[in-house]
Amino acid sequence: MKKVTLFGGTFDPPHNGHIHMMLLLQELFGFDGIYIIPTNKNPLKDTKTPAEYRLEMCQRAFSPFPWCTLLDAEVRRGGVSYTIDTVDYLLEKDPEFKKAEKFFLLGEEAAYSVDQWKEVDRLISMVQPIVISRENFDAGRARSMPLHIFESIQKGWRKATPLGLSSTEIRVRCAKNLYIEHLVPSAVFSYIKNKHLYIKE
Ligand code: ATP
Repeated sequence: MKKVTLFGGTFDPPHNGHIHMMLLLQELFGFDGIYIIPTNKNPLKDTKTPAEYRLEMCQRAFSPFPWCTLLDAEVRRGGVSYTIDTVDYLLEKDPEFKKAEKFFLLGEEAAYSVDQWKEVDRLISMVQPIVISRENFDAGRARSMPLHIFESIQKGWRKATPLGLSSTEIRVRCAKNLYIEHLVPSAVFSYIKNKHLYIKE
């Protein structure tokens, strides 16, 4: 059976930390397919950069990797983006997804609050959460979660070393006119420059 994972994010902009994470996913789990999913609106954070720019930057960042598929479903759906809605969409529209063993990537911080997510029980019954962190799973911190969610997060936790880099850092460096070419794929860098993105934070 094929294995696929969702990799969602604001991607404002996509950076080498995201590329490294995508490669870790592939190397640790052997995914056949990774869906790159820019959010329309993250329930927890604001984005000023238009979705079409973030989509284009993701296209540029991930197109060198043939196992990555860019999905614009959340942007087209509009409003706040919830993972369960994207899973339902893929189940209906994508027979390969439906047949596959399914996972979704969670950030470390998100993992400790996933029990607050929309329809989390149905979500984790269909897609297994994955967390890649340099830290061990902190069972104490997750202790207030329902047991089946706790166990699901614990099962999907892998220790590895992500690159210490964030989109925030890139936006801040751009606003200060500092060098960023070592932090983003070159095709993303040229787009940021052409569109004059992140000049003011
Ligand atoms: P921001 O700084 O704007 O909050 P971000 O760099 O955290 O953004 P997102 O687009 O919010 O990027 O992240 C999308 C996904 O990628 C999340 O699952 C997040 O945990 C993960 N991620 C972000 N940065 C890294 C990194 N340096 N290494 C590994 N994973 C990362």
